Amino acid sequence: MVEKVASRKADKLLAVKGMNDIAPPESAHWEALEHRVRDLMARFAYRNVRTPIVEPTSLFVRGTGETTDIVEKEMYSFEDKLNGEALTLRPENTPGVVRAAIEHNLTYDGGKRLYYMGPMFRHERPQRGRYRQFYQLGAEALGFAGPEVDVELMLLAHQLFSELGLQNVRVEINSLGVAAERHAHRAALISYFEKNVELLDADAKRRMLANPLRILDTKNPSMQDLVAQAPQLLAFLGEHSLKHFDSVKALLSSCGVAWNVNPRLVRGLDYYSHTVFEFVTDELGAQGTLCGGGRYDGLFELLGGKPTPAVGWGMGMERVLELLKEQGRRGSTPTPDAYAIVPFAEAVPVAMRCLQILRSVGVSVQMHASTTGAMDSMKSQFKKADISGARYALVFGAQELERGEIIVKTLRDGSGEQCCRRVSDIGAWASTLQSHT
Ligand code: ATP
Ligand code: MG
Repeated sequence: MVEKVASRKADKLLAVKGMNDIAPPESAHWEALEHRVRDLMARFAYRNVRTPIVEPTSLFVRGTGETTDIVEKEMYSFEDKLNGEALTLRPENTPGVVRAAIEHNLTYDGGKRLYYMGPMFRHERPQRGRYRQFYQLGAEALGFAGPEVDVELMLLAHQLFSELGLQNVRVEINSLGVAAERHAHRAALISYFEKNVELLDADAKRRMLANPLRILDTKNPSMQDLVAQAPQLLAFLGEHSLKHFDSVKALLSSCGVAWNVNPRLVRGLDYYSHTVFEFVTDELGAQGTLCGGGRYDGLFELLGGKPTPAVGWGMGMERVLELLKEQGRRGSTPTPDAYAIVPFAEAVPVAMRCLQILRSVGVSVQMHASTTGAMDSMKSQFKKADISGARYALVFGAQELERGEIIVKTLRDGSGEQCCRRVSDIGAWASTLQSHT
């Protein structure tokens, strides 16, 4: 019997807006994606890194950038009640990974290739593909300067999409050059916007001097013409930057990856340099960027480390899963190999021992359990066995058990085929239950 705890029904507690529960069967698609990611990362020799979800607020103010949407308005920041420290739930993980690399001198013996998967937090307006807690998969290559590593990272994302069977994902690239080139471009950009100040919206006016590059990123339809005509950073790149960018393009092509240069693709932060890229789809409405990344050669120094070239990307896992669903590329959700039907109390110990053996040799098996604590009828247990999707029912019936046997009945295929198996030989026949559908 379930004991009543309170006489009056308590108010239902709900999750925080924009933060989702991921329960079965949905969670199976997450596990499948995570499994594929781990497998792929191993093939690229990227190793897992796990950093705290909470970091000092100053890490993001410095490492994400004071003039970004994230720092301006999206962070979940709070004061540690015990010591007053300013803390923030991580809105992205590149600053955390770089902090960890500096703190533990991870690149002391050469470059490191790292990846992570985990929750990020941004106070945005929740909508399809945009949540307040969302999951990012990220890859970061620390301590490598050459264009081949930029390309390796793009190949990594590209291969993931292709192994997932996703279609129509475009690769957009651009180069942000080096600081001096960006500064020259910035001056040209400011004077262009100053000449057209009446066409700027309030956000753009505010950013014009602080971070004009970010205006190019605007989603405001009435400013599209203006930004399309703006001076392009590419025109300011010097020989070295052009060479890096040309190598990236040539390598991508030679690896069979189609790309487009999008001169408006910018990351309006000073520590970015050279390559920036996005993987984009038109099939998810406004939230079409699946993956964004770039080279951030200046970030280590900005966070107090030694100058260290680095490049990485972050991918929104909800968006990837949504596109998989949209394109009908999600796999089936898992079902147990067998369902144990236990019609009387005395059979429970035998059944549980058998199940221990089956599970230890790799058979997945679900035992019937009643919601009330009383034994359920055979009929209702078989119904549950059907619902479970198991291929076999294992029936621990009284008569059979007296002979030291159980019934193995085939479900799902309509044949109703069944046979008796000896409990004492279970080790020998167990593997015949393993899914071969
Ligand atoms: P957007 O332009 O869509 O706001 P962003 O530039 O803020 O993206 P990044 O900081 O580059 O995004 O994060 C990398 C990826 O994480 C994005 O390409 C996207 O797939 C995903 N992402 C970002 N914000 C969210 C969110 N609030 N909910 C779900 N996924 C997100
Ligand atoms: Mg954003």
